[in-house]
Amino acid sequence: MNTLTVSVVTPDGPVLEDSFEMVSCKAESGELGILPGHIPLVAPLSISAVRLKGESPQRIAVSGGFLEVRPDKVTILAQSAERPDDIDIERARAAKERAERRLQAKQDEIDFRRAELALKRALNRIDVVENR
Ligand code: ATP
Repeated sequence: MNTLTVSVVTPDGPVLEDSFEMVSCKAESGELGILPGHIPLVAPLSISAVRLKGESPQRIAVSGGFLEVRPDKVTILAQSAERPDDIDIERARAAKERAERRLQAKQDEIDFRRAELALKRALNRIDVVENR
């Protein structure tokens, strides 16, 4: 089976490097499905789950960053990236509730945007744990 090397890196260090058959992820421009031999590409990533398909499939919660595709390698440079086992679900639920309270409170636009992004990160982490 033809495979791609996938490397996931954050400012805290490498999270994963392994071979997979396909990478599905959400770029800001929409969903991408990457198979070996894909044309080179760089794209900003949404707060979303990266799905790695192969012998041992994996889902990783990423909080934005960039995707770099080369025919034999996909590199994901993420603000943060967690495997389901590394996600503290109680922390994510607390972050979700905090963000929801902030979105309900009257406040300026910058805080609103920050709370919206925090809510997206929390919902993404919860989704990755619940759909592992
Ligand atoms: P919180 O408000 O709980 O800090 P956050 O979305 O603001 O959440 P980030 O700024 O995205 O957190 O991440 C900061 C660091 O904490 C990163 O290293 C990230 O991987 C880690 N992290 C954040 N939330 C969780 C979680 N629920 N479980 C495990 N690690 C987490």
